[in-house]
Amino acid sequence: MESKYSILLNLLMLQCLSLLCVSQSQDFNFFYFVQQWPGSYCDTKQSCCYPNTGKPSADFGIHALWPNYKDGSYPSNCDPNNSFNQAMISDLISNMQKNWPSLACPSSNSIQFWTHEWEKHGTCSESVLNQHGYFDTALNLKGKTNLLKALKIAGINPDGNSYSLQNIKNAIKGAIGYTPWIECNVDASGNSQLYQIYLCVDTSGSSLIECPVFPNGKCDSEIEFPSF
Ligand code: 5GP
Ligand code: 5GP
Repeated sequence: MESKYSILLNLLMLQCLSLLCVSQSQDFNFFYFVQQWPGSYCDTKQSCCYPNTGKPSADFGIHALWPNYKDGSYPSNCDPNNSFNQAMISDLISNMQKNWPSLACPSSNSIQFWTHEWEKHGTCSESVLNQHGYFDTALNLKGKTNLLKALKIAGINPDGNSYSLQNIKNAIKGAIGYTPWIECNVDASGNSQLYQIYLCVDTSGSSLIECPVFPNGKCDSEIEFPSF
């Protein structure tokens, strides 16, 4: 009798484990790796504030690595028991200040921005990337995808001029090998401009992939690339 129960119990436990595995491997389908152009965050009606460390360099900065589903939806705030912990990423802080600065007001040391991105998005990929892995992966992706260089090679410079959206996308596809998604916002005078660039990454965070789905949103066919 006892052994029958224990077999049953074992079977139940096995089933639970396999369910856990299935749900873990399906907890998201890919990442958006999103980089922002600081000039387009700052020239808006809302304006911006430089971080305490000073004006960031005139380069794309990391916004985040977002776990997403291939139907376009995404999970958020997945683990309230895994809050941001600066001590876990102390070796990355100086790199993050350079490559992942917050431009929100008031001026800050960017910790709030990183906390938000980890807690809202990063916790939803914690089955693959722990806190250190999440930030380290984003920094590595930034190092592998020099968007400003890709654009400059194609003669597309942050000089306040307008460029065709198609040329911008072609320049990035040409240099990086994958079609980006371009998100636009508007400057203080209402001109459509290049705000964020999305690339897609596999669930391990190691390889760029073609995007399974693109976000919604619209740019003009000619968009401004403001200076910073
Ligand atoms: P998300 O779109 O990643 O869910 O939210 C971005 C949040 O981070 C917003 O609440 C925004 O105020 C804050 N934030 C802080 N610094 C920055 C920044 O430099 N760029 C952007 N896009 N958001 C920032
Ligand atoms: P097209 O047919 O020339 O590729 O795109 C027509 C319109 O779709 C563009 O003017 C733009 O509004 C929108 N669009 C096309 N590609 C993108 C993109 O990558 N990002 C955004 N935000 N809109 C796009």
